[in-house]
Amino acid sequence: MQETIRLSALGRQFQRGDMAVQALDGLDLTIQSGEFVALVGPSGSGKSTLLNLLGGLDRPSTGELWADGVPLHMAGEKERTDHRRRRVGFIFQSFNLLPRLTALENVAVPLMLAGVEKSQRETRAAEMLRQVGLEHRLRHYPSEMSGGEQQRTAVARALIHKPALILADEPTGNLDSKTGAEVMGLLHALNEEQGITLVVVTHDADVAAYARRTVHLRDGQIVEITQKETAVLASESGGHELPPQVKRDRLHAGDILRSAFRNLGRRPVRNLLTAAGVLIGIITLVAMVSFGVGVQREVQRNFATIGLENIFVRPRFAEGDGFDPFADFEAATPITPEVVDEIRGLPRVVSVTPALSLPQGLDITLIVGDESLPVRISDSFGEARFGFARSNEPLAGESFAEGNSAGVVLVAGLADQLLQEDQTYEDLVGETATFILQLPRGETREFTSSILGVRDSFGRRTVDLGLAERVAMKAWWFGQPDIIQTEGYDALTVRATDLAYVPDLIETIEELDLQTQSLEAILDVANQVLTLLQVLLGSVGGLALLVAALGVANTMMMAIYERTREIGVLKALGASRGEIRALFTVEAAFIGLIGGFFGLIFGALLGRLADWIAHRYLINEGITGVGDLSIVPPWLALGALVFAALIGILAGLYPAARAARLDPVAALRHE
Ligand code: ADP
Ligand code: MG
Repeated sequence: MQETIRLSALGRQFQRGDMAVQALDGLDLTIQSGEFVALVGPSGSGKSTLLNLLGGLDRPSTGELWADGVPLHMAGEKERTDHRRRRVGFIFQSFNLLPRLTALENVAVPLMLAGVEKSQRETRAAEMLRQVGLEHRLRHYPSEMSGGEQQRTAVARALIHKPALILADEPTGNLDSKTGAEVMGLLHALNEEQGITLVVVTHDADVAAYARRTVHLRDGQIVEITQKETAVLASESGGHELPPQVKRDRLHAGDILRSAFRNLGRRPVRNLLTAAGVLIGIITLVAMVSFGVGVQREVQRNFATIGLENIFVRPRFAEGDGFDPFADFEAATPITPEVVDEIRGLPRVVSVTPALSLPQGLDITLIVGDESLPVRISDSFGEARFGFARSNEPLAGESFAEGNSAGVVLVAGLADQLLQEDQTYEDLVGETATFILQLPRGETREFTSSILGVRDSFGRRTVDLGLAERVAMKAWWFGQPDIIQTEGYDALTVRATDLAYVPDLIETIEELDLQTQSLEAILDVANQVLTLLQVLLGSVGGLALLVAALGVANTMMMAIYERTREIGVLKALGASRGEIRALFTVEAAFIGLIGGFFGLIFGALLGRLADWIAHRYLINEGITGVGDLSIVPPWLALGALVFAALIGILAGLYPAARAARLDPVAALRHE
């Protein structure tokens, strides 16, 4: 005769406050394989405690407990989980089906925990349900079934993985006597036909009557064992066919994901609200980073078009000594043509382009052919040099070359007004352009030039004017023919052959007592400002995410509290700590991910909106040709999702660990 279970001097003591409760006190008992044992006794006599010990849900305080030769009294968490998963099937008084799973899915849970494929386990679960007479209830949820049907489902679940031992704690306690008798009949038949060892706790003498032996407990001790002579030990008549070794496998990742996702659907509003917290944080981060990336890229692109090898040179003005507000600011070194030539002569200099701005409020009329229009001279630097680059290709003719320049470039809007019928912009190129300047005191003068080209830009009045014309106009305006020789140009753009020579060149030029500025330096500052801005915005987003993480943690704590009993059931069915932890961590990750997903979408949209507003603004300022300012590169999209999921995982770590650590016995008692 094969023994399944042997207890010797088994004791279990509980601490209730200062008082020690001896729930079980020195039990000696051997249960044969295939035996049907009833545990009876008054309430509080220790029946459930014993059953929990047999099932590996609890560990004894003293004595020994052997199951199939395994010393459960010494077993660790892992061995006891293994014991539950492989050898034991639990049946509870209150059925303990998982409420959100159908009968079929409930029955399949032990197989899912054992890593059996979904289709395979559902086939087996359906077969099992057929055996307990529930083939018509496969897709029903527990709430849609009667107590008897639920308990039969629970019996099917306890049997699905072909355990050697079924432990039932008052399985008929919540059923009427007729249904109870049906369930007991079912268990009895299983014991007889398949030789499964059965230990049933009961109050009911009718139930106990099915058993071969009845163990009477009182105050944690065995007071009597009665035996039915007629009963045959099932294992002697047929014996329990050893369970086909369910491959010891883990809960599959796919099932973890699926279960976690389904569990989220149980509290959709709460979980969505929690996800909204993550969403807000992610929106901020995505919008900020995308804008940062876009602006940085655009700035760099524009600066690259202008050329990082450029050095801007301005005169240095002497500090006004004393407090004479009328003192003329005298340039230390005026940028006279000689100075320009000197710089041009320096090694590694490709070109030197002087810039000269005309006085404000100049009254200028342009005459081309028969047309005469008021015009505005574009600043020689400003938008053209420092602003965003326009398309450099002129619409017709050419634009100013580097170095010295002469001629006129018209903007398209102005050129349109000059075109005769059937004329194109090309026809304007080479035409004579006459400017008429008028001094405030009325004196006028004509300057002639010729049209160099037409360019695409904003406005209808702007002309770019060559340096030669500017010099002539300024000299006339101030009545000083040698104004350039004495006062010099306003600024120079010096282009070096290579970025590497810029620092040397800057040094040489500054030795001439001139001020310099290079795009590289400006770019550095721009990048620093941008980085600072990003860090600031990032902290806001980060703070939002911190709050969101607390929200996720809180939601998970609530979910775990609500599902404490289910966690107990899962553990009784063989779920390991790691699997429980994984289930809840993944659930938290999903909350983060959902928030991240929508945060990414809204963040990108917000970026587009900011982009649109910025473009409106820039166009109003007359700056066109600016690319996307808000860009969501793939790494940002992916990063945002990963980050959001990570927030969820981090926030879920502690709650999940708590769920994993829950004592299954206490969890099962949880209401
Ligand atoms: P039964 O199932 O026979 O009604 P139990 O096994 O549930 O009895 O309980 C036996 C005794 O142990 C009771 O006095 C009960 O109060 C006590 N007990 C059971 N579990 C705990 C626990 N976790 N903490 C403290 N006392 C407990
Ligand atoms: Mg009990």
